Amino acid sequence: MSFSTFGLSDEILRAVIERGYTDPTPIQLQAIPAVLAGGDLMAGAQTGTGKTAAFTLPILHRLSDRSVKGPSSGRPPIRALVLVPTRELAAQVEESIRIYGKYLKLSSMIMIGGVNINPQITRLKSRVDILVATPGRLLDHVQQKTLDLSHVEILVLDEADRMLDMGFIRDIKKILMLLPAQRQNLLFSATFSDGIRALAAGLLNQPAMIDVAARNATAANVTHIVHPVDRERKRDLLAHLIKQHRWSQVLVFTRTKHGANKLAEHLVASGIPSLAIHGNKSQSARTRALAEFKTGSLQVLVATDIAARGIDISELPHVVNFELPNVAEDYVHRIGRTGRAGAEGDAVSLVCVDELKLLTDIERLIKRDLASEIIAGFEPDPRIKAEPIVNGGGGQRRSPPGLPGRSQRRGGQPGNKLPSARLSTGPAAGRMPALQRSGGRGR
Ligand code: AMP
Repeated sequence: MSFSTFGLSDEILRAVIERGYTDPTPIQLQAIPAVLAGGDLMAGAQTGTGKTAAFTLPILHRLSDRSVKGPSSGRPPIRALVLVPTRELAAQVEESIRIYGKYLKLSSMIMIGGVNINPQITRLKSRVDILVATPGRLLDHVQQKTLDLSHVEILVLDEADRMLDMGFIRDIKKILMLLPAQRQNLLFSATFSDGIRALAAGLLNQPAMIDVAARNATAANVTHIVHPVDRERKRDLLAHLIKQHRWSQVLVFTRTKHGANKLAEHLVASGIPSLAIHGNKSQSARTRALAEFKTGSLQVLVATDIAARGIDISELPHVVNFELPNVAEDYVHRIGRTGRAGAEGDAVSLVCVDELKLLTDIERLIKRDLASEIIAGFEPDPRIKAEPIVNGGGGQRRSPPGLPGRSQRRGGQPGNKLPSARLSTGPAAGRMPALQRSGGRGR
């Protein structure tokens, strides 16, 4: 099936062809006809599935289709609003709109925080058909009475689960109040939590339901590997892996902003060009780091989950979980950056004894055990005991005190055992007696 079968306008097809796409992705196959038909949509799809084009292409078509009602006179109003959780994602979505809409007479605008509001106010005085915004800055404009959303025909909530995680639910509800009741609503989310279901129930009217997230979560072209290692040795192990394998473009995830900074500094000190990106960095620093990383001049980008959300780097070969995420779904988001569009990718996780419960949660979510390999020279010390994981500022514990850990729940000996390991070389073999996975599940 090709893009030409959707009935998209020639201008849009031309831009898609120029972009080099030949076949629609699964989310595009399902979402494009649904959006063109004009109804509401609830789609389960994470970054990397082609979801941006899945909503952008039919929106561009609908807005440029003269048979669809438009304003009769005066400056045309904003007709489509795309709400996204992060500035980076906003930039990427708006760029996609410009790319796919390059042969159309529609104009788009990005509205994000962290930059001066005045140029945005000026921009709003001229034509904006499609607005891509983060909720906070959008509400700043509403407060300043510089924004009119009363003619929005299509609303997109992109990465809605992340918007809820980031605490935007109240902002979203305020924004919904500003929109006309009669409109098309499209909700994209990587996961369907209770919060998302509640939001969808209040927002969507008999939506078409599409879910491609599960398939992507276990993308066959991504190799997952766990390297058990002591928490204090992770930094050296990462530098070792990068150098040994000559990885040229590595996205590394840490749990905290502080951790991201420290790690980037350590890697730089080890001779590996690295930068951290997170919410405390200025917008220009984040944009610059991302641009350098994309062009390949920056070898390592260290990011927190929120900062990395929606980063679009095609065919990113290596994603490293320097620390496992607290929420298992974030593992899926993280590895969504690699193995895209058919390319091969590695998802490497450095796991210390504190993180065994998190590892179990991830394996349960993605319904597979992750292979594990101890790197010679970085063997975990079995005497080191697990400590609660404390997040910067958040103070979240790894697991409630008193709950059994991974090995206990799987019927093994109590204690701080690391997952079983395929031990390749080196002196580790004789020193790692306690590394058998106790649950007895097959590989
Ligand atoms: P997204 O999930 O929207 O972040 O898209 C992930 C990546 O897939 C982006 O780099 C897109 O440019 C790319 N992409 C989107 N649709 C297609 C397609 N039909 N064929 C090949 N690549 C695509």
